[in-house]
Amino acid sequence: MASPGLSDPRPSVRSVPFDPVPPPFPPTPVGEGPPLVPPATWRQVALPGSGYSDRPRFHQATIDDLGTPLAEVTFVVVDLETTGGSPKDSAITEIGAVKVRGGQVLGEFQTLVDPGMEIPPYISVLTGITSMMVAAAPRIDAVLPAFLEFARGTVLVAHNAPFDLGFLRAACETTGVPWPAFASVDTAVLARRLLTRDEVPNCKLGTLAPYFSTSTQPCHRALDDARATVDVLHGLFERLGPLGITSLEELTGLTRQVDPQRRRKRHLAEHVPSGPGVYVFRGPRDEALYVGTSNDLRSRVRSYFTAGEQRSRMTEMITIAERIEALPCAHDLEAAVRELRLIAEHKPRYNRRSRFPERALWVRLTDEVFPRLSVVRRVRPGAGVFLGPFPDRRAADAAVAAVHESLPLRQCTSRLSLTVLGTACALAGMGRCGAPCTGAQSREEYASVAAVFAAAVDSDPEALIAPLLARVERLSGEGRYEDAAVLRDRAAVLVRAVRRRQRLESLATVPELVLARPDGAGGWQLSVVRRGRLVAAGVAERGRSVRAHLADLLTTAETPAGPEDELAASVDETELVLRWMEKPGTRLVDVTGTLACRSPGTGRYSAFLARVEAGRAERDPFGDHRPLSTRSQPDRVVPGQPVHDSGRRGAGRVAGRRGRMASGLASPT
Ligand code: SF4
Repeated sequence: MASPGLSDPRPSVRSVPFDPVPPPFPPTPVGEGPPLVPPATWRQVALPGSGYSDRPRFHQATIDDLGTPLAEVTFVVVDLETTGGSPKDSAITEIGAVKVRGGQVLGEFQTLVDPGMEIPPYISVLTGITSMMVAAAPRIDAVLPAFLEFARGTVLVAHNAPFDLGFLRAACETTGVPWPAFASVDTAVLARRLLTRDEVPNCKLGTLAPYFSTSTQPCHRALDDARATVDVLHGLFERLGPLGITSLEELTGLTRQVDPQRRRKRHLAEHVPSGPGVYVFRGPRDEALYVGTSNDLRSRVRSYFTAGEQRSRMTEMITIAERIEALPCAHDLEAAVRELRLIAEHKPRYNRRSRFPERALWVRLTDEVFPRLSVVRRVRPGAGVFLGPFPDRRAADAAVAAVHESLPLRQCTSRLSLTVLGTACALAGMGRCGAPCTGAQSREEYASVAAVFAAAVDSDPEALIAPLLARVERLSGEGRYEDAAVLRDRAAVLVRAVRRRQRLESLATVPELVLARPDGAGGWQLSVVRRGRLVAAGVAERGRSVRAHLADLLTTAETPAGPEDELAASVDETELVLRWMEKPGTRLVDVTGTLACRSPGTGRYSAFLARVEAGRAERDPFGDHRPLSTRSQPDRVVPGQPVHDSGRRGAGRVAGRRGRMASGLASPT
C-alpha cells in the first residue's frame, strides 16, 4: 500500500475491452498474500462510435508497409523518468505511456520502477520521485514485459526519442528480453521540421506544451509528460496537411535534413501574407515556374523550405526560383479558380495538373443522315450531341466501346448516303449494326437508335446503361469474370461521363448565381457565378450587410463572353464551382434563370459506381491491360462466304469506301 501523498507504486495499465491481449499482470485473488508481480488496474476507455472494431488487432508499421494512413496507425507515446542521463550508469524510475489511434486514447500504462540504486537528490527535486517512493515498486525485469506487451505492434513516440528508447533498449539488453523492431517517431525532431523560430523559441516539451495548449502540463512525471506529448503529436499532425503528408512513411521522411540549397532560399517566403490565395514561384526571366494555392499562403509557402517537402521536382524548382508572387484571395474557391486560370495561361513547367485543359476529349454523335460516334477535342454547338469531357483517349474509347455494346450504331467512319448503297461489314452479320449502308435499315429506324444516345446524354441514360449491366450479369453468371469486369468498367466510364455532362449543363444555362458560405468568423464568403464561370468573389465580414456587399460585388463582376446557353468557363473551373456549391453549409442567395438537375439523371447508378470504385481499389492494378482503343478493319460480308469476327482476329483492309471501325468487347453478344 502506498503512503498517503505518494503515487501508487504498482503498474497501472488501462486499456480498451475489445483488445484481446491478456492482462500483463493477472488479477490476484483476494486474501492470497502479496502477488509475485503487481496486479494491473484495467479501466475501460470508451471509443466513440462503436464498441467493436474489425481492424486488425495490431498494425506493425514497417518500411515495407508503404502508405499506411496516419489515422490507422496505433502510436504508443512513452516517457521515462530516470536516475540520470545515460543508460550506462543510470536506471529507469518511472514509465508512462499512452496508446492512441486516430486521435483517440485507447489505453494508458504507468508504473514506478525500482532502479536498484539511490536516486540522486537533484533528480528527486526535478521529478518528485524519491528512493522511498520506488522502494516497493517492481524491478525493470518485471515491468519490461508488461510494457512491451502494451506497446506490441505499435509505433513508439517520444519527445527526444533517443533518450527514452535508448534506456528501454538498454533495459532489454540487461534483462535478456529481445527488443522488438519498433518504428519510432520523435516529436522533438518533428517540431524542428514543422515549426519556425518565430513560432517557438525552442522545441522543448515545456515550450511546445503551452504553444499547442496541451490538456496536461508536463511536470517531469512520466505519464503526465506522455499525455502532454500526445497533444503535441496531434498538434504537429495538423501541420502535416498542407505538406500533403498523410502516411507513416511520409512522416518518417520528415526526419531527413533540409536540402542546403533550399534552406538558402527561405528568405523568398518572408513577405508572403497569411490567408487564402495563390502563389507563383517565378524564375530568372520572371516566368512562372509553379503555381499553387492554399488556405494559408504563408504557412504553405514556408513549408517548401522545410524538410517536409521531399519532392525532387520541387527541390529543383526552388533552386531555380528567384521570387515568389503571392495573390491573396477572398476565399478558397477564388484561389482555386485563379490557380486553374494561371496554370492554363502560363503552363508552368513544374505543374503537372490542369496545364492543358484544351486537350480534354469529347465523344460526339455526328450530325449527319446516319450519325456515328467520333472522338473530338472541341464542342461545337449545333454540331451533334456531345458526351464528356474525358481526360484521355483511353477513357473516351471505353465510352465509345460501351455505347457500341449497348446500341447498334454504325461503327464505320465514312459518310453514308440515302441513295448510293454499298455492302455491309461483319457487324451486320453479328447483329451489331442494322446496315443502313445497304438500305436494310431506314433513316427513321436508325434515328430511333441514335435517339437513345441523345436521350441518355440529355436526361435518362437507362436505355443505354441497362443492357450493359444485364450483360455484365450474364457474363458473371457464365463465369467470364474478366470480360464482365471490362464491360462493367466501360459502363462505369459511360455513367460518369453522362453524370459529368449533365452537371455541367445544369450551370451552363444559369445566367447568374450567387452563393454564400460561412467564413467561420461570423461573416460570409460570397461567389457570383455566371454560366459556370466565377465572375466575382468577396467576403462580407461579421456585422456587415451581405446584401450591401453583394451589390458592390455585382457592380464589378465580369460579364462573360459567348453564347447565352454555353459554359463560359473551363470544365475544371465549373466543376470547382459545383463542388463549392455542394459543400455542406453553402447557401443559395440568388439565382437568375433556372438551376435544376436533369431528371431522372444518373442518380440510380450511384450505388453501381460506388461498387465499381470499391472493386477497383481491391483489384490488382496490373491485372487487366487489355487495350480499350483497339482499332480494326472488319471484312465485308461477301455473299456466299461465312462471316467471321474480324474485330477479334484483326482482319485486313475494308473493301469499298467504308473507313476504319472501332471494335467493341471482343466476344459478340
Ligand atoms: S459498313 Fe458496317 S458498320 Fe457501317 S453501316 Fe454498314 S454494316 Fe453498319
